This record gives sequence, structure tokens and C-alpha cells, in this order.
Amino acid sequence: MRRTVDDARRWVDFGTELTLKAVAGWGEPEMGLPSGLPGWTRKNLIAHIAGNADALGNLTHWAATGERTPMYSSPDQRAADIEAGAHRPAHALSGWLRESAERLATAMAGLRASQWRTEVVTAQGRTVPATEVPWLRAREVCVHAVDLAAGIGFTDLPAGFLTALSDDVVGKRGTVPGQALTLTATDTGDRWHLAGEGTPIAVSGPLAGITAYLTGRPHGVTAADGSPAPRLAAWL
Ligand code: ZN
Repeated sequence: MRRTVDDARRWVDFGTELTLKAVAGWGEPEMGLPSGLPGWTRKNLIAHIAGNADALGNLTHWAATGERTPMYSSPDQRAADIEAGAHRPAHALSGWLRESAERLATAMAGLRASQWRTEVVTAQGRTVPATEVPWLRAREVCVHAVDLAAGIGFTDLPAGFLTALSDDVVGKRGTVPGQALTLTATDTGDRWHLAGEGTPIAVSGPLAGITAYLTGRPHGVTAADGSPAPRLAAWL
């Protein structure tokens, strides 16, 4: 693994600031527009980002106290929060976005070394040490900053984050059926082998494009013969 907890915490701050800056000054008309995610307005997405901070705050509480507090109280709660977000006023959503991020930052700043090692369970049911919480949050704020459809692209995200995210997605995709691929970032020289079926297809493009491709976002990467890169199944 090429990332540290300190890297992840830096990327949380970076992505949080990027998201808050993008949303600053948005009223009802801007928030009602579609996000980059199918079927979600920006309001749905902002409610999801804020709800995720609260949910990861539960894991931080778990780490601090040892009291088992899952991210979401029920499988439906996450979806209900996102849906309810569409009906909340724009100013309430931007307030929730900012305050939830501040609460999570304060809670993480208060964890001692031994508490960071506490095992917690993610919404996907994985048991991980609390040191993974900043990475889970970094992924959310950085990738969803792009999904806000506010002119932010993967090229605006730190290269170290893009590499770590590609590592993460390649690992996850390698455990489910799909086409075998080799991916080359033409600007950094990073390479990944995605385990899968068939002779691996070589795909290349800039690191930001490779990461966008791997995460199922709009991208410009192609196969070696110039044809479009193979379609990937949804990620997360
Ligand atoms: Zn998300």
C-alpha cells in the first residue's frame, strides 16, 4: 500500500475544501441541477456526502469509546437520507455539509494512537482498523467533488490520491468477474494489472483518466489500438 494515514488525512482536508468551495454560494437553482451521478441531483449528492461524514463520525466514536456504533442504523437509512436531501432547502444542505465535515475533523483529531487501532466495521461489512476511516472519507470527498458537476475534474486531485485510489479499485475489481486488463498511466509510468478473464487488454492514458475510468466516471482512455477501453461494471 502506497498511502499513509497522514496522506489520507491530508486528502480529506483537500477534498473537503474543494467540495465546500464548489458549493459556496449555491442557492436553490444550482443545487437542483443534476449531479454527475445518474438519477441524483446535486442536492441528493450533497446530502450523501454530509450523511457519510456523520456515518464515519459513528466509526470514529466507536474507535474513541469502544462502543459499537455502525455507520448507518439500518440498510435503508443511507438511502432515506439521500432521498430526504432532495427536499431540504439549499442553505440547510450547505450548512449540514460544512458542519458534518467539521465534526468529523474534530473527532479524528481527538483520537489517540491506541484508539486509531480499534477495529470497526464499514457499511460494506469489512472489518478494518479506524486508521482506514480517513481513507474512506478522502475517497468520498475527492471523487464526489468531481461528481458535483461543478467543473472539477480528476486532474484537479493530487496525483498521490489518484494512485492510491487506482490501487484500491484495481484490488476490489480483481475479486469480481470481468475482463483482464493492464493499465498504464502515460504521464507517471504507473502500471496496474487487473486480474480477470481472457487475454489482458492494454489500456493507457494519463493517470487522471485511468482513475476516472477505473471508478466508472467519464474518461478519455483507450485500448492500445485506439479503440474505446472496455466497459467496466459499476464500482461501489
Ligand atoms: Zn459516496
